[in-house]
Amino acid sequence: MAADCIFCRIVAGEIPAGIVTQDDELIAFRDINPVAPTHILVVPKRHVASISVLEDSDATLAGRMTLMAKSVAIQEGLRSGYRLVMNAGRDGGQSVDHVHMHVLGGRVMRWPPG
Ligand code: AMP
Repeated sequence: MAADCIFCRIVAGEIPAGIVTQDDELIAFRDINPVAPTHILVVPKRHVASISVLEDSDATLAGRMTLMAKSVAIQEGLRSGYRLVMNAGRDGGQSVDHVHMHVLGGRVMRWPPG
């Protein structure tokens, strides 16, 4: 756990969150500032700062994030589609330095993203 990390504090139960599901490695909770009717974050419980520092040994973790995101989308009833987003670094739009995957749905997504 990184003491100054907001997502680590959610994992630790120090900050409340709308938890959707979790397992031993991952937690999914509702984004505090949703940009779509469904906006959920899939987050590793272990502190990993960014996609940029993922290593080969994290392949299972990264894959399991995608599978949990798919399960969340099904659970939320996003039958007509959804978008998964991972922002990396400042130019990528990452604002929380704890790796996470956005699950966005409930409206038609535009392309290209901003
Ligand atoms: P990103 O900009 O890709 O790093 O995404 C970080 C996301 O975390 C943003 O969509 C924020 O709205 C969200 N966020 C920040 N603090 C919280 C919080 N305490 N609970 C839930 N979501 C949060």
